[in-house]
Amino acid sequence: MPEGPQMVLLKEQLDHLIGQQLVKATGNAPDIPFDIIEGQSLTAIKTFGKELLFCFQHFTIRIHLMLFGKYAIDGVLNRLLRLGLAFEYAEINFYACECKFIQAPLDEVYDWSTDVMHVSFDPAKALKKLRSKPKQLICEALLDQNILAGVGNKIKNEVLFRRRVHPESVVSEIPESELKGLIHECVKLSFEYLDWKREETDNEHWEVYKKKECRRDRVPLRKEKIGKSGRSCYFCDRCQVLYVPDNI
Ligand SMILES: [Zn+2]
Repeated sequence: MPEGPQMVLLKEQLDHLIGQQLVKATGNAPDIPFDIIEGQSLTAIKTFGKELLFCFQHFTIRIHLMLFGKYAIDGVLNRLLRLGLAFEYAEINFYACECKFIQAPLDEVYDWSTDVMHVSFDPAKALKKLRSKPKQLICEALLDQNILAGVGNKIKNEVLFRRRVHPESVVSEIPESELKGLIHECVKLSFEYLDWKREETDNEHWEVYKKKECRRDRVPLRKEKIGKSGRSCYFCDRCQVLYVPDNI
C-alpha cells in the first residue's frame, strides 16, 4: 500500500495538470458524476496522508489506492479502468482504487494537522491522541490515520526499529519522551522516504522491513502479524524494548 511520501511524489509528478481543463472522464467508479466533472478546470492537487485530492472549483475528487491500486500517467494498463482523467495535454488513469466525490470544503473534511507531511502537522496533538488510546499496541497506533495520517507499514516498522521499540509495546507503558521520539521519527522518515522515492533508491534504505537480520545484533529478525489489523511486523527481539504492564 502506498504511504504518504508516495502520494506526495505522485502529486509532484502531476502538478503540470493544474490549470488544465478536464476534457474527458471515464471508468466505472460508482461515486463519480462524470457528466458534472467534465469541462471543469483543475485548480489544485493536494494530498492528505495516503489520499490524493484533485481539486476543482466546486468539488474534489479523492483517490485512495488502497492495497492494490495502480495508476498510469499518459498511458494505460491492461486492467479494468476505475477512473481515467483526460486533461487538455495529459492524462492519468487509475485502477483498483477507491474514488470519492467530495463537495464539502476540504478544510471541513480534513484535519490537516494530523498529516505527518503537512506544514501544519501538530506533534502535540498526535501525542495527545496516542495517549488517549492507552491500551493499544504501538504497532497499531502508529498506523491509525486519525493520529498519524500517511504512516504506513514500511514507515511503522522502520520507525520502531530506529527507536528500538518493540511493536507489541502497549502505548500506556511507553515513556512520554519515547512517544514523542516515535512521532518525530515518523515525520523525519516520511521526508527521507520521499527523497529516496525521488531518487528511486527507497529499497536500498530499509533497515528492517522485509529484512532477515538485525544490523545491530546480527541475529535473525522476526516477522509476525501482530494486532487486530494483522499487518506484518519486522523486528528484533534483542534490541527493541518491549514496554508492557508488569502483570502481563
Ligand atoms: Zn537487534
